[in-house]
Amino acid sequence: MTTRRLKDIVDVAGARYRQSMQEGFRPLGTYGISRTGTCALCGIYGPLSKTHVPPEKAGNHQPAATMGTRAEEGLARVQPGTFRDGGTWMWLLCEPCNRKVGKHDEEFIRWWYGMVRSWSETNEPKPGELRAGRLPNSQPGAFVRSVLGGMFAFNPHLRTRCPDVAAAVLSGDPVALPSDLQLKMSLYWHSNRYVLGQMTIVVTERDTWSSTSLSVEGEWAWPPFHLALVDPNRTDFWPDAMDISAWMLEAPDTVRDVEMRFGVLGVNDLYMSRFRNDK
Ligand SMILES: [Zn+2]
Repeated sequence: MTTRRLKDIVDVAGARYRQSMQEGFRPLGTYGISRTGTCALCGIYGPLSKTHVPPEKAGNHQPAATMGTRAEEGLARVQPGTFRDGGTWMWLLCEPCNRKVGKHDEEFIRWWYGMVRSWSETNEPKPGELRAGRLPNSQPGAFVRSVLGGMFAFNPHLRTRCPDVAAAVLSGDPVALPSDLQLKMSLYWHSNRYVLGQMTIVVTERDTWSSTSLSVEGEWAWPPFHLALVDPNRTDFWPDAMDISAWMLEAPDTVRDVEMRFGVLGVNDLYMSRFRNDK
């Protein structure tokens, strides 16, 4: 299977995500819309704070909307919702956790600005292309904690699945991701932006009609980054992605040069064309 086969997607189940600069969507269920609840990182029940995912200053201030799914003929279909100003955010983390992740977010914002600037000065990347580069004086341990902090916020199931990772996002302690999870980074250049909590993608082979599924625990299609927390065995979906899981073994304040080598992803516009067909 290759990434091209994503055009054969027949169904998307359990999708919950927010989308920027596109048509509006409304959440199904109540997660993230109440100001009181369980913090997705520390697990304490109480007041929640406005949590931007990705960080607000990384271009996350545009009109955005939330979407969910509804049942239709036994299949989950994407449900359109309401369009609001102010970026992709929900009530997800308690104030102390939000502040701790916010410190890591400064590094994410720095990388985001740097990449946007350097890409605007180069030829537009094409899907499938391989790019390499070097980020001097960077803090990959902070960058990865910003990403995982946001992914845990959008997917509360992750804290119960790997509490040690949630704790390490907050404390800065080194931790290995569980062997069945990998954080993959690609370059992504497309006007469709979205942030996804958890989703199961079912792909049907056009020739044989055999189906296979991929569980995504978190996904940001946020130009110029594509970040996905997925089963490491499914390399077919993001074949040239860079595995950045090991950055969680580094302290957030460790400064070093980061070598980047990864593919340019263009498949996610196909998710979105599928969703548009569902409206
Ligand atoms: Zn908390």
